[in-house]
Amino acid sequence: MSALKAAACLCGTVKMSMTLKPGLGACHCSSCRRWCGGPLMSVHAEGAVEVTAGADAIKTYASSDWAERAFCGECGSGLYYRLLPSEHFPQGEYIVSAGLFDDQTGFNFDHEVFVDGNPGWYSFSGEENRNRMTEADVFAMFAPKEEG
Ligand SMILES: [Zn+2]
Ligand SMILES: [Zn+2]
Repeated sequence: MSALKAAACLCGTVKMSMTLKPGLGACHCSSCRRWCGGPLMSVHAEGAVEVTAGADAIKTYASSDWAERAFCGECGSGLYYRLLPSEHFPQGEYIVSAGLFDDQTGFNFDHEVFVDGNPGWYSFSGEENRNRMTEADVFAMFAPKEEG
C-alpha cells in the first residue's frame, strides 16, 4: 500500500493525495464519536497529506492541545485528525478518514483504540484479529520517556 491514494470530501471541493501506512483503525473515544456519530475509521498517512484541490475550504478545529480536526467548510465532511508536530512526532501525523477514499483496496482493519470508550451498543466482528487498546494503553504508548 505504498502507492499514492486519492481522497475527496462529499461535495468534491477538497481533494487530497497521500501515501498510506499499512493498517486501518477505529477510534471509540467520545471526541471521535461526537465528531462522526460513531467510531472514527481512519488510516495513517506516510508524511504529509498533499491537498490537491480546495485548500481554502478546509477548516480546522483544535480539539486538544496536541491535535486538530480538519473538515470541509462546504459539506462538513471530516477530513483528518492531525497530531501536531511534537517531540514524538516531529512531522506531526495525519490520520485520515477512511471513507474519503474511492479506492478501498488494501485497507486492513487491524487495530482499535480507546476500546473502553465504546458506549456498548455496537461491536465489530473479528476482534480477535485486531490489536485493541484501551485509553490507558494509548496514553502509555505516547507518554514522554522520563528517563534516558
Ligand atoms: Zn466538501
Ligand atoms: Zn478518537
